[in-house]
Amino acid sequence: MREHKIAAIPADGIGKEIIPAGLAVLRALEQRSQDFKLTVETFPWGSDYYRAHGRMMDEDGLERLKKFDAIYFGAVGDPDLPDDLTLWGLRLRICQGFDQYANVRPTRILPGVESPLRDVKTGELDWVIVRENSEGEYAGHGGRAHRGHAEEVATETSIFTRVGVTRIMRYAFQIARSRPRKHLTVVTKSNAQRHGMVLWDEIAAEVARDFPDVKVEKELVDAMTVRMVKYPQKIDVVVATNLHADILSDLAGALAGSLGVAPTANLNPERNFPSMFEPIHGSAFDITGKGIANPIATFWTGAMMLDHLGEPAAAERLMRAVERVTASGLRTPDLGGTARTDDITNAVVEAIRSSN
Ligand code: ATP
Ligand code: MG
Repeated sequence: MREHKIAAIPADGIGKEIIPAGLAVLRALEQRSQDFKLTVETFPWGSDYYRAHGRMMDEDGLERLKKFDAIYFGAVGDPDLPDDLTLWGLRLRICQGFDQYANVRPTRILPGVESPLRDVKTGELDWVIVRENSEGEYAGHGGRAHRGHAEEVATETSIFTRVGVTRIMRYAFQIARSRPRKHLTVVTKSNAQRHGMVLWDEIAAEVARDFPDVKVEKELVDAMTVRMVKYPQKIDVVVATNLHADILSDLAGALAGSLGVAPTANLNPERNFPSMFEPIHGSAFDITGKGIANPIATFWTGAMMLDHLGEPAAAERLMRAVERVTASGLRTPDLGGTARTDDITNAVVEAIRSSN
């Protein structure tokens, strides 16, 4: 029996509702499959923990998490606490501490889910966006001079390193190679940003030589937004910087129907450290406690986690169950329905139990 150790961190807001839902679905898969065992430990870290203990996570938190095979994360963020404290104190600390430099965001229109792109049918939009997750525009370099004066200046420096760009590029090429269409779009803004973005273009060309089977093309980020809306069928795998992919993947989530279905993985591809799996959405305090959060992004991210743990059959079974439920018309309010988190969870558990 294969055994996988999972650290669950529900954290804030609807994170505390969707992670238990995700764990119920994972348990159902474990029972249905009978060939792997999940050991789950839940950590109480987050904004409430901060209020009680003065810290978002324990000092030895990373040390303790290191022993796990994967981290299943809910959402972090609190209306009464600054992001600098909550986000940096927990989620980004894990991302950086475990060198999770590849952020992977699959996008598909699930059956029964309506996309704002009216002419695009389920199956026609099938993308993977690979986001550089460790440097670039979010490196935090810069500063301010002459605060409050007329001559005030603020700088925000993007950092692109050869090591950083090469490793994300290689990872994106590998993903492209593993998919039927083997197509990769390298997104930059190298016509206007003439240093870092030109380095991206150069490294893309270098890495492409090692992947002659992958069809690669370049696109500017502004043109890419147009292409995503007008020609979604022509996109397969996309690689972009921290900032560009952040924006493009929010657009992708909206085009797929709702933030409530969009999953993501923060990967350390070399597996020196655990990777972290989470829904794209935040803690959504406007609906917290109402029992109506859409758990599908969390289920899908659970499927990504199972894939990463070497359980592709269970991951497949989970996605088929999710698709059966979305196709049946059962939907939470964000998708125009009236179902509750528990209704969706029970329906997916049932679909797993009755799957062949
Ligand atoms: P953050 O700063 O953490 O990204 P945010 O306030 O920008 O938080 P989200 O928490 O992602 O954004 O929520 C944006 C909107 O989408 C909210 O109105 C929220 O209710 C809705 N939403 C997000 N996730 C879900 C979900 N799983 N189910 C239903 N609605 C959701
Ligand atoms: Mg947000």
